[in-house]
Amino acid sequence: MVNLVLVGGGHSHSIVLKLWSKKRLSGVKITLISNVKNTPYSGMLPEYINGFYSYEESHINLVKLAEIAGINLIIDEVVNIDADEKIVSCKSGLRIGFDVLSLNIGSSPEKSQIEGANLYAIAIKPIPLFLKKWLQIIDLAHNNPDKKMIFTIIGGGAGGVELALNIHHKLINIISIENLTINLIHRGKRITSNYDVSMSEKLTKILDKNHINIYLNEVVKSIDSQKITLFSGKNIDSDYTFLVTQASAPIWLKNSSIETDTEGFIMVKNTLQSVNYPYIFASGDIASIIDYPCAKAGVFAVKQGMPLYQNLCNFLTEKPLKLYYPQKKYLNIIGTGNKNAVANWGNISVQSPLIWYWKKYLDHNFMKQFPH
Ligand SMILES: Cc1cc2nc3c(=O)[nH]c(=O)nc-3n(C[C@H](O)[C@H](O)[C@H](O)COP(=O)(O)OP(=O)(O)OC[C@H]3O[C@@H](n4cnc5c(N)ncnc54)[C@H](O)[C@@H]3O)c2cc1C
Repeated sequence: MVNLVLVGGGHSHSIVLKLWSKKRLSGVKITLISNVKNTPYSGMLPEYINGFYSYEESHINLVKLAEIAGINLIIDEVVNIDADEKIVSCKSGLRIGFDVLSLNIGSSPEKSQIEGANLYAIAIKPIPLFLKKWLQIIDLAHNNPDKKMIFTIIGGGAGGVELALNIHHKLINIISIENLTINLIHRGKRITSNYDVSMSEKLTKILDKNHINIYLNEVVKSIDSQKITLFSGKNIDSDYTFLVTQASAPIWLKNSSIETDTEGFIMVKNTLQSVNYPYIFASGDIASIIDYPCAKAGVFAVKQGMPLYQNLCNFLTEKPLKLYYPQKKYLNIIGTGNKNAVANWGNISVQSPLIWYWKKYLDHNFMKQFPH
């Protein structure tokens, strides 16, 4: 029996398991190691935070998926990989051997550069920890509707902007708008600086209209329980500081012998195979494809699901692997928190409630393929 171990139940592995449930290889045992039983679908996360979707609607149930795919699921967190000995070590002390390994563990916001971030900031990932804190905040707001609340989101990329707008629309239904302050701090000279300027302009207007304070060209130096200090010398009051900064990889991976890029992401060929261990695959945020860089976005993790499944099967049956080329342009839709959305394609950005409903349809369609 050949042991294929999947680490992390991200978007790509969820698709691999769905495909495996339809077509399996005999003589292969799959084990999925995941630190959660339900994995969030990134496309629906901000709307879940806003209360538009339920937990079940916006999360993939890995327990049921594993059951249907007939694979072994271990709920644990991987903390080390010995790539030469082919052993994965978990937080619980469990050690699992593999013949072929695939990693789809996502990323988390970079916080090592900000003093006090570990103690006083709430990182958007791991998402379950963020959601736990968010539900406590919502309870507090419900119980104290006259309380003033100041939120700061650090990171003005697509995720940070979407989070700011959804938080705003959720909270103005609970506390009065005068009691709510939301700040958005971004190191770039315009928000969503990885996208076309038309997108930044549309979103800036929407943030302004919703009285969200934007701080551009600002880098956070430190965070404490009540305030944020910027390198420019400014201080910003903040009760709740959320980190949606640049994606980063876990330290244990950087310390392994698997080759990583300068930021610690696994360097893979466009077969999704590690450059120095052909029996190790990686996809989604944690992978950095040589010569074909792509954004750390769920859309790529989803698109890599099918080629990953094919290449794992081909590798296991000693067939030639297929090449995956990430799309250069992709449609990006940002919900603005009020059942409205901005879509961007190349240098065109359009805002309309119709786009929001269309995205809702696409997201539900995506989630329909998984068991609930
Ligand atoms: C607020 C916000 C909104 C976003 N909205 C969008 C959007 O609309 N569209 C889009 O394309 N992208 C969006 N993104 C980006 C998107 O979240 C990521 O790019 C995407 O989740 C990456 O998918 P993945 O499959 O690589 O990893 P993930 O979806 O992060 O899945 C990784 C899984 O592995 C598990 N895991 C992690 N470490 C371990 C470990 N050591 N051991 C075991 N299990 C582990 C995690 O719990 C998780 O279940 C958004 C991001 C944020 C922050």
